[in-house]
Amino acid sequence: MTRIFPEFFPRFFCKADQCRHTCCQKWEIDIDDETMQKYKNAPGPLGKELQEWVTKGEEGLPCFRFNEKGYCHFLTEKGLCRLILEKGPQYLCQICRDHPRFYKYSYDSDKEEEIILAGTGLACERTVEQLLEEPSELLFQSTDRTGPLDFLSLLSRLHLPLEKESCFFTPCFEKDYIQSLLKRLEQTNPIDREWTESLSLMEAHAEKLSEKASALSQKLSPWFLTNLERYILFRQLDECEAYDPETAARYAREAVIFILLSYAETGDLIRSTTRWSEQIEYDTENVYILLDSFDE
Ligand code: SF4
Repeated sequence: MTRIFPEFFPRFFCKADQCRHTCCQKWEIDIDDETMQKYKNAPGPLGKELQEWVTKGEEGLPCFRFNEKGYCHFLTEKGLCRLILEKGPQYLCQICRDHPRFYKYSYDSDKEEEIILAGTGLACERTVEQLLEEPSELLFQSTDRTGPLDFLSLLSRLHLPLEKESCFFTPCFEKDYIQSLLKRLEQTNPIDREWTESLSLMEAHAEKLSEKASALSQKLSPWFLTNLERYILFRQLDECEAYDPETAARYAREAVIFILLSYAETGDLIRSTTRWSEQIEYDTENVYILLDSFDE
């Protein structure tokens, strides 16, 4: 099975206590069967705590119970995981071991083989930093060849037809377009109240924000916005069997325009990107709401 991933993927590390954010909150972290057996039988005080702090989630699967502050009980004040500190990373359940990595499955009908598209999610601030650190075009590695792949070669490797201009970010801040973009995002399921409030604020100040976002986009490194658009599209390439690749490209381009608008509002590019990703990429239904809206 061939695996394709961005070149920075093997260098990814979680910033843990150096991160402004923690991932050990909000999500329901399901515990896989193998790990659950281990936790059920864990001896000593840590075992007792594990048994106390595991509950059943919405779908009846075992998951971690959050404390009164809304965090995982095993997260220390310093933002580190006690399970790793006391037992090592192998002691974690599969989701905690993988996060924020994603694996999507595509298929090469010529070679009749499955292709895994791997990366780390943009809800993670380290991933956004890695994209910002790219000095030029983001390249990918494929386990079935020795050299790096640029994005256009990656698309042809997957037999995905996409116009060349759709692979380069082109900003558009025209009034009608921005209004329709914000309306489309209004249809998605909000992750929290903060998202809904910020969206209303953006709608109220759309013109001003568009001007500011346009100016900000010109100050960013020329490759960053195209790399960001391509990286967002990369995560949805497995959807290009069900959706036209141009539809997926439109979704990615609009995401970058929205991130720029949010950057204009907050002044924080990393947070604007991670928030967009939390809202859209981490709720698969929201991805489909947007892709469907472009297909209509
Ligand atoms: S956002 Fe990324 S760097 Fe920060 S805690 Fe989560 S995985 Fe680690």
